[in-house]
Amino acid sequence: MTFDLDIAVSEKKINTQSTEETIKEGKNFGSGLRSGDVVALTGDLGAGKTAFTQGICEALNVKNSVISPTFTIVNEYDGVYKVFHFDAYRIESQKEFISIGFEDYLLEEGICIIEWADKIKDLLPERTIWVKFYHDEINEDQRELRIKFPEVNIN
Ligand code: ADP
Ligand code: MG
Repeated sequence: MTFDLDIAVSEKKINTQSTEETIKEGKNFGSGLRSGDVVALTGDLGAGKTAFTQGICEALNVKNSVISPTFTIVNEYDGVYKVFHFDAYRIESQKEFISIGFEDYLLEEGICIIEWADKIKDLLPERTIWVKFYHDEINEDQRELRIKFPEVNIN
């Protein structure tokens, strides 16, 4: 991730009013990603994690269709970088994630994006960028995204 800010910002809050806006924010975020980056997404079912991932993949010129790998656990896409898209929703233990080779993916050239990342948080490196999605209780199309950048990536 690169920044053109004068001051170090470790958390960024974004509000979106529609799916399209979340995709656009994902695209904006994705354009700053580099090989080796790890993006952890959290939030309930339907919070917008996959929509945001679609935006990231659009920015990286991925032509594959981007869907939650709920049953397969990982989808692999080709773009400017390789994208490894994980979904930890159905896994029962962190061990199960290790057994699909998660730690090897972290060493690969490419970008790792993990939905339901809170379920495997002990396996994630310090450089992980966290994106948390919050539903609005009144307006069902509104979301708040909180993006937390690790200190090591800020200069
Ligand atoms: P997740 O991967 O977190 O389960 P998805 O991205 O698959 O969530 O789905 C989000 C759902 O919420 C979609 O049906 C989408 O149309 C809807 N939606 C409504 N408003 C928004 C918003 N502001 N951002 C993202 N998705 C939204
Ligand atoms: Mg999803």
